[in-house]
Amino acid sequence: MKAVEWHAPRQMRLVEREKPEPKPHEALIRVESVGVCGSDMHYYLQGRIGSQQVLKEPVILGHEYSGIVEAVGAAADGGLVGKRVAVEPGIPCMKCESCTTGHYNVCKKMFFPGGPGNDGALCEYTAVHAAFCFPVPDTMTAQAAAMIEPAAVAVHAVELAQLYPGETVAILGLGSIGLLTAQVAKFSGAHLIYGTDVLPYRVEAGRRHGVDMAFDAGREDTVQRIMAETGGRGVDVAIDCTNGSDGMGLAVQVTRPAGRCVLVGISGEEWDPLPVSIARRRELTLRWCRRFCHNFARTIVLAASCKLDVISLITHSFPLERTQEAFDLVAENRDNVIKVSVDI
Ligand SMILES: [Zn+2]
Ligand SMILES: [Zn+2]
Repeated sequence: MKAVEWHAPRQMRLVEREKPEPKPHEALIRVESVGVCGSDMHYYLQGRIGSQQVLKEPVILGHEYSGIVEAVGAAADGGLVGKRVAVEPGIPCMKCESCTTGHYNVCKKMFFPGGPGNDGALCEYTAVHAAFCFPVPDTMTAQAAAMIEPAAVAVHAVELAQLYPGETVAILGLGSIGLLTAQVAKFSGAHLIYGTDVLPYRVEAGRRHGVDMAFDAGREDTVQRIMAETGGRGVDVAIDCTNGSDGMGLAVQVTRPAGRCVLVGISGEEWDPLPVSIARRRELTLRWCRRFCHNFARTIVLAASCKLDVISLITHSFPLERTQEAFDLVAENRDNVIKVSVDI
């Protein structure tokens, strides 16, 4: 089968790999669509995320994907064969304390594809644990099904925020995670959503995706503007969806006393600064979001019912052979890119 391997920063190669055989509990998936994620960019450009996750040898990237189940192993659900599925990519051990107490997303033995030592989905076939394959309705396209993964992150972020109806929300960073989070916050009852980005076209996109007051953080001071808009109070909930080291600090500064901050963005650094005095004096609740947990099925329902618009975020599509172009486009934020999908 064809596959695209990361070899070194900005070096992707189309290679031949052996088609996988499903193990007893696995499903063999003919991959249809793979989304390019901000976390993939850290690998693509630097070969690492922080100091723990470092690529040392060629690997197939890609963890946001959908496909058709072509076959299943002897112990897997045969009803999956022929179905289009959205794949929850992280496979936890299901035995450790995190897994057995409802927090499998922070399992230390998590298998996560498209990272150090684990091949991902930028290839024609992949075999994965069948229990993590979620069939989507017939009406859902392959591209939309691949978007369930980032959409599930947005759903998890709003769950962690414990958003109450009528509250105000600030979303820092209007990339695809920020735009999805704005939509989820909106239909979860947010009264007013402020949104910022440093790219003007993303500020525009924010206005189309549930952000009531979107502004350009490159031209205006985020903290001053949000504090002015809220009469000096701050928002009830701030969600950092930037990929910069200052996102968490901004979230803290724009949140009202006793409010909540959820930190979703991946800066790629091991340590980021935080204004701890402000956070302490306001007795803020800070929560970090680790992907998703028990919400893939609900995210599919939301996307299938069009409550959550995942498809309009996809601005570009490339075939597998042109994966490097897809990654370069995202790396350089060219051509008003929001979400790029590689369609196989
Ligand atoms: Zn991702
Ligand atoms: Zn575990």
